Amino acid sequence: MNTTKIPFSRTVCDGRELELVKEVLSSGWLTTGPMARRFESEFAEAVGAPFACAVNSCTAALHLALEAIGIGPGDQVLVPTYTFTASAEAVRYLGGEPILLDVEESTGLLTPEIVGQAILEHPSAKAVVVVHFGGQPAEMVRRRGLGILDLCRAHGIRVIEDAAHAFPTRLLGQPIGSFGDATCFSFYANKTITTGEGGMLTTADEGIYRRACLMRLHGIDRDTWNRFSAVGAQWEYDVLAPGFKYNMPDLCAAIGIAQLERAGELRDRRQECAEHYFRELEGVAELKLPAFRCLPEEHAWHLFPVVLNFGVEAARHQVIQHLNGCGIGTSVHYKPLHRMTYYRDRYQLTPAAFPNAERIWSGCISLPLHAWLSNDELFRITSTLQDAVAQVRSNPLIAVPVRAEALSVSRQG
Ligand SMILES: *Cc1c(COP(=O)(O)O)cnc(C)c1O
Repeated sequence: MNTTKIPFSRTVCDGRELELVKEVLSSGWLTTGPMARRFESEFAEAVGAPFACAVNSCTAALHLALEAIGIGPGDQVLVPTYTFTASAEAVRYLGGEPILLDVEESTGLLTPEIVGQAILEHPSAKAVVVVHFGGQPAEMVRRRGLGILDLCRAHGIRVIEDAAHAFPTRLLGQPIGSFGDATCFSFYANKTITTGEGGMLTTADEGIYRRACLMRLHGIDRDTWNRFSAVGAQWEYDVLAPGFKYNMPDLCAAIGIAQLERAGELRDRRQECAEHYFRELEGVAELKLPAFRCLPEEHAWHLFPVVLNFGVEAARHQVIQHLNGCGIGTSVHYKPLHRMTYYRDRYQLTPAAFPNAERIWSGCISLPLHAWLSNDELFRITSTLQDAVAQVRSNPLIAVPVRAEALSVSRQG
């Protein structure tokens, strides 16, 4: 049996990335400077946004976006429970209160219906964080009828998008990054494009852009590159606010520029991988394959989450163990936030309030989905998964549920 490792995620930065990083190293300017500027303008163009602000993580971008729209102590912000903690923790950085919402069962997304209902139930909510789970766009707009954006605009609710999975994603032909008040992207090592660590905030609102740029570097009125390249008093700057240290170094931006060049090619290969999974797994009765309502070419295909419908968590555990034993890495997206100690205890949340998220999470497994999977590896993954499911099917012990805490769940890798 072939047990060569197939990791859940692979990062490959061995082409233009090397050249551009070398250029930065030999230029002698490593921190935020010309490369970061160039990455910002190329990224803004790629998503059709007037402004882009490069930062050192998506979490930082979320913090800056929420700060720029004025979220403060006690402000309520609607956040899906089916996400990574960053989407909600950024609200807490500012003293705001995330209100966790259940998601659509088939997609793991917020829908206009869910957001509309939440607005009625929480009329004082100031903003919503929309997560484009797995790389599929939430319905910001609809061809017919009201999208999330329309509903929020009508009620004066600001819209921040967590697009950590969603580059490059489109909705009705328009790139994610050009819809809400601000959109936050991640270039973490296992995301669709990477800078090692990094993020980007895009917006069409010049006020949000200016505030985010100010706050990402200590609230200083001129960034270091600006001062360095200025004529006159290079040493002088003013502090306008108690800002943060969220700037993206040129060393990272150089990687980002090269990754941006191949983002389309990488996305296309991930779509081929997803098509393989659909083809090979559609006949497996106990597997629910991810639903999507966008066109396949508008999906970023960041994740391929399948849901086992044995109805017991032990089944998921056994399948993950089997795959792992055969050298195949998987992950779980997500153990929902209402199950995390901090949110559960602070807001006294119970699973019963999130039936859809519960149904997805108790059976979900994310399969490897990256551009560096070979066809042989794809076949190995699907046949091993079929074997694992068949084994669970024939195991009478699986009817005994195991305690949730006995299951290991990785962070986001
Ligand atoms: C990865 C991720 C983040 C955080 O991104 P960083 O760049 O690591 O800060 C935020 N939200 C979601 C949904 C993510 O998957």
